[in-house]
Amino acid sequence: MNRSTDISTLVRKNILEMKPYSSARDEFSGSASVFLDANENPFNDPLNRYPDPQQTLVKKRIAELKGLAVENIFLGNGSDEGIDLLFRVLCEPGRDHVITIDPTYGMYAVCAEINAVGRRSVLLNRDFSLDPDAVLTAVDEQTRIIFLCSPNNPTSNSLEREAMLKIIDRVNCMVVVDEAYIDFSEGPGLLSLLQEKKNLVVLQTLSKAWGLAGIRLGMLFAHPELIEYVSRVKYPYNISGLTIDAALRGLDDKDQQGLWIKEILEQRSNMAAELESFAFVKEVYPSDANFLLIRVDDPAAIYEFLMNKGIIIRDRSSVPLCEGCLRITIGTEEENRDLLGALKSYQP
Ligand code: PMP
Repeated sequence: MNRSTDISTLVRKNILEMKPYSSARDEFSGSASVFLDANENPFNDPLNRYPDPQQTLVKKRIAELKGLAVENIFLGNGSDEGIDLLFRVLCEPGRDHVITIDPTYGMYAVCAEINAVGRRSVLLNRDFSLDPDAVLTAVDEQTRIIFLCSPNNPTSNSLEREAMLKIIDRVNCMVVVDEAYIDFSEGPGLLSLLQEKKNLVVLQTLSKAWGLAGIRLGMLFAHPELIEYVSRVKYPYNISGLTIDAALRGLDDKDQQGLWIKEILEQRSNMAAELESFAFVKEVYPSDANFLLIRVDDPAAIYEFLMNKGIIIRDRSSVPLCEGCLRITIGTEEENRDLLGALKSYQP
């Protein structure tokens, strides 16, 4: 997409023309001693108060961490809110479509269905690499979003940077790169290209490397014009005060996050080596994420065997290109030892 292209040409007419809801906290956000504007209960401080609808403090903190402007950031109830809002802002139901790779994270397809938006699916190569030309062939004037996921779930590999850039540079629609697992990857991701690629949207989350899946905070980074449209559509107070507080506390401890990542990466390489030693494990795929995808002879039997021992992994064997595959999240050293110990007693 050209720098001069106006993002509004991709936005649904009703969203362009709508007047967003204006909350009490939008209309007055300065300091005062008495707040009688939002029909709140005056008791039970501080939970009686509506949270900041713009989440200014957290966005400032994230902007510093990521080297971005606050205007490049939308915060959602998990990345999933960002994904859904992109559909609602950009895709006219029954007319427009999106493109997803296959296999990938399931929510892009679910959101397409919920929003009655068509979806074209492009199979990855056998080695899980991306074929940019196959994606470009699927694009036409009604394509509104291309969803890429790198590192990809469930295949655990990063998509090739050059292949993603080829797509981003050739199309006039938005390209979403879901980087939920980027902190476990060797590569830097595409966030540093946000200023030069107007049609790039990067999704990240506090759910993985930051250890905060329970608070639900997803980050959508994009051109300020798109951020403005997405913000129009969100619920006024989509991020709770509890989430904002926990996010600020978590983000202040970057050292802790670094230690967790280091530990998970050590465990990942140890687990990969141990899993490879089992005769029934045919392949352990190289991982850039906090999980491993392995190919085995009888995935259902292993899944059930582990389940009976109280250890739950994910059977991905019905997913295209993942025949025979199980997905294993990297746990603590002790949890991983339990899993390996259980597998030692598995009789194929
Ligand atoms: N993107 C990918 C690729 C994921 O695998 C997941 C969760 N498994 C998510 C997004 C969801 O993240 P969140 O918790 O921020 O909604």
